[in-house]
Amino acid sequence: MSKLLSHDELRAHFAKKFGRSATVIARAPGRVNLIGEHTDYNDGYVLPAAIERETRIAAAPRADGCVHLVAFDLSRETTFDLADVQRSTSEGWSNYIRGVAAGLLAAGYPVQGFDGLIQGDVPIGSGLSSSAAMEMASVQAFSAIGGFVTPSAQAARIGQKAEHLFVGANTGLMDQLASALGQPDHVLLIDCRDLSFRPVPIPAGAAILIADTSVRRSLAASAYNERRAQCEAAAQALSVPALRDGTLAMLDAVALPDVVARRARHVIAEDDRVLETVAALQGGDLHKVGELMNASHASLRDLYEVSSVELDTMVELLRSQPGCYGARLTGAGFGGCAVALMEAGAVDAAIPAVAAVYRMRTGLTPALYPTRAAAGASALTL
Ligand code: ADP
Ligand code: MG
Repeated sequence: MSKLLSHDELRAHFAKKFGRSATVIARAPGRVNLIGEHTDYNDGYVLPAAIERETRIAAAPRADGCVHLVAFDLSRETTFDLADVQRSTSEGWSNYIRGVAAGLLAAGYPVQGFDGLIQGDVPIGSGLSSSAAMEMASVQAFSAIGGFVTPSAQAARIGQKAEHLFVGANTGLMDQLASALGQPDHVLLIDCRDLSFRPVPIPAGAAILIADTSVRRSLAASAYNERRAQCEAAAQALSVPALRDGTLAMLDAVALPDVVARRARHVIAEDDRVLETVAALQGGDLHKVGELMNASHASLRDLYEVSSVELDTMVELLRSQPGCYGARLTGAGFGGCAVALMEAGAVDAAIPAVAAVYRMRTGLTPALYPTRAAAGASALTL
């Protein structure tokens, strides 16, 4: 993954490419979910944070109603006309922003064309939501260039719709909300039923360490859809609108195929774990938070069956480090990343230790990203 360019470097590349100065730098972070996995599509709770890796767009307005985008990290470029926004088959990366433009236009905003140079350091396709980062950065760019303000919740919905309609990815809303609304040193408790949210402070002295297994989630799409269907079947059997409304007692009272019951047991208990984590954070009990993260991983591995040898190995290595409170897989599973909550002072020593043993055990080179919780999307007018 590329290194984040400084503002000066980004502006210099923009000037070289477009022969004029950028007037805006928009930015939006990636995200990591601390706990609450596979709960979002069951109307449940999630607890993500924005991370210290972000996507930036340097931009300057155009008068012809066109958007000319350069993806610096991919060495690609494309132009589209706001009068007729279409999906691109050859420049798939631009569909996230085409979709955002279409969404802002449909919402009635005075969207204006611009030249934009995109660059960032959110690892692409690792499950840290480089896609939502690019969407939320583009909402900020369109808003600053067009002279309007897009409320965060609406920005998130527009990003989600861009993924549904322009990319064909049936994602929830967690990624966009976290990227739009993140606050330094806070996680966001999001209720995926009504999309209400509440920032929860992370106690001082705690840090987040993200560990990418470097295994890509190839099986994820079909397995994900299968689990969604199993959750719907379980909710129906319990006669509740979604598993969010189910209880373990209700589950014990009905006869369900074993696999469906296990999926439901994970979701129902995971929702409780999210709320317990919030209480533990508020009480400053980081050991309790760690225990809940560990329990979440066990449940995802044994009941929801979305872990992998590499994720289990990574989680075990993270937990064996001095100063680690707990660790779990984060994101949909099968590959991608694990997340650990650690004593801030213990992170530096853990990184080379985890990397070396993981490499030895799996033959794979992991990527480790220490992070504090970061601020959500914003734009700077130059
Ligand atoms: P994730 O969101 O987990 O990183 P996705 O598959 O949802 O993975 O999104 C990754 C896609 O988003 C990339 O394949 C690319 O099309 C687009 N993308 C993300 N970041 C950038 C970037 N900096 N420049 C261009 N395209 C990007
Ligand atoms: Mg994504």
